[in-house]
Amino acid sequence: MSSVGTGGGPGPGCPFCAPGSERVLWSDVRSRVLLAAEPGYPGFCRVVWGAHVREMTDLALEDRARLMEVVFAVEAALREVLSPYKVNLASLGNRVPHLHWHVIPRFEDDPHFPEAVWGTRVRQNKESNFENDGRLLEAIERQLRKE
Ligand SMILES: [Zn+2]
Repeated sequence: MSSVGTGGGPGPGCPFCAPGSERVLWSDVRSRVLLAAEPGYPGFCRVVWGAHVREMTDLALEDRARLMEVVFAVEAALREVLSPYKVNLASLGNRVPHLHWHVIPRFEDDPHFPEAVWGTRVRQNKESNFENDGRLLEAIERQLRKE
């Protein structure tokens, strides 16, 4: 992956620096959008900065702005394609301290609603009719062209 942007070299053992079987939905030289394989959460995306950077404030101002542009494009695309009840944006990185944002479409009948997806599961996974059929990528690209 590109190391364009602020930051040092790859983090030892970092899964975002040495990706295995990621499903990359979209990418440019600075960041990429992954479709997460989270059972019960169709459309769960992660926006990952290319370089091994720890915090938002480690990025140059224009890089911060670009990263959030991508996050917001993914949010808007998910709203368009999946019409979720709510979109959760989260940047934690406690386990993987390589800057990334979770963009999670939430539904009132999803496995953890109204808890955070990292909280207590309150119901079974529901059936999903969402398929990675290219609509999400098209919507992300359309949103980014609007910026
Ligand atoms: Zn990393």
